[in-house]
Amino acid sequence: MPDNGSGQDKNESAEKTIDNVESAVESEPSSIPAGSSPEEIESGGIEGKALPEEPIEKDNSAMADSEGFIHGKIIPNKGFEEALLKLPGVQLSHAMEIINGIREYVDLSQIKAGEDFKVRLSKEGKVEEFVFYPDIITFHILKRDPADGKLKYSSKIMPTEKRYRIIEDEVITTLNQALIDREDVTRNIRAVTNGILECIVSFNTDARKGDKFRILVEDRFYNGQLVTGSKIIYASYEGKRAGFHEAFRFEDADPKSAFNAHYTKEGKALIPSAMRLPVDRVHVTSPFGMRRHPVTGARAFHNGVDYGGPVGSPVYSVAPGKVVEVKTTAYGGKQITIRHQDNSETYYLHLHGFLVKSGSKVGPRQRIATMGASGRVTGPHLHFGIKSPKGEWLNPLKKRMIATPQLGGEKFNVFKGQMKDITALLNDTAKYQEWLRKYDEGPQPEGFYEEYGL
Ligand SMILES: [Zn+2]
Repeated sequence: MPDNGSGQDKNESAEKTIDNVESAVESEPSSIPAGSSPEEIESGGIEGKALPEEPIEKDNSAMADSEGFIHGKIIPNKGFEEALLKLPGVQLSHAMEIINGIREYVDLSQIKAGEDFKVRLSKEGKVEEFVFYPDIITFHILKRDPADGKLKYSSKIMPTEKRYRIIEDEVITTLNQALIDREDVTRNIRAVTNGILECIVSFNTDARKGDKFRILVEDRFYNGQLVTGSKIIYASYEGKRAGFHEAFRFEDADPKSAFNAHYTKEGKALIPSAMRLPVDRVHVTSPFGMRRHPVTGARAFHNGVDYGGPVGSPVYSVAPGKVVEVKTTAYGGKQITIRHQDNSETYYLHLHGFLVKSGSKVGPRQRIATMGASGRVTGPHLHFGIKSPKGEWLNPLKKRMIATPQLGGEKFNVFKGQMKDITALLNDTAKYQEWLRKYDEGPQPEGFYEEYGL
């Protein structure tokens, strides 16, 4: 099982997948002094390295419901640990058992403030059941198994109905302002749309008054209620100077695939920046920031991101550079350091096998190693860190990343099929919305229903 921890900056994340990355801003340097080596911080529990405990105030207004559950919510800028410890009766050992039980299944970098959970303790003071329900359709459940006394994970996802809508408008000043002015555009839709379109349109020089944009949004409903996390599956921009540009959403078979993103018709990824992901599957078992170390239990600063995955899965360099260190240490295990052109460095720890040597030049998204469980860990994962040219640790999830520059081979074939489906959806939705508009306008002319195939 991967290691334990919780961190900050979670409530700022948007949707799962690459969407949140598209809207991300540049990393802010951490408060940890420059020059500390990754394994020192990774270990957390070395004498003198552990940081002081912050006292957590109990929320004594939380009462057990008829089934014995006490309800809690994720707190802004805090992880599960803090939110759990606020509840009466919940102790650190309970919180750690719960976090260790769900980290393999819940991406810990994606939890957001306000999301709900509930926990039921037994008379003996053990966690009997824990349920995390980040939205109205998703339930992550941990239940004590009487057979072996361990918490067992299961999940439940309610079936949803998908509905589509087109948002289209004219730009008066900027695209961003046009999006802000609309009530049907959420902050996330705005951020993703800006992120996609700024990759293909130079807004600074080419945007003109009267330019048009069009977005196809996929909403999911459960029992008539909108589920959070609407997706943009298509966006286009038509400008007097900019010309016509389209972006399509690609969905890989695995919902956690690093390829899930928006692309041009030609399969070019529309993710701003030169950063790329070091893994194929994006599942964060421990985010950047304060956390409790899985092995030592001490609170310490986690100076990178842990991606969970099986031993042997590929690890990629995120940008071109030179391998400056290949070594094995007690804490970081097998590890690689790459220095990039701007003198920033990336760190890859707990590896299984090395595929490069010290001094090797590497390209973007070149396989450099395989994922492992070497060093001081509780399970296989990649610890990935980024150090700024000044030597400060950056939050890799706040860097704008890119999954892949181009869809090729079988993925491109699948994408072509998906583009066809999206185009059909776009046309159907446009027709339906036109019908609705005309219907609302009043008396229908002869042949109105027939015209729309009704
Ligand atoms: Zn780590």
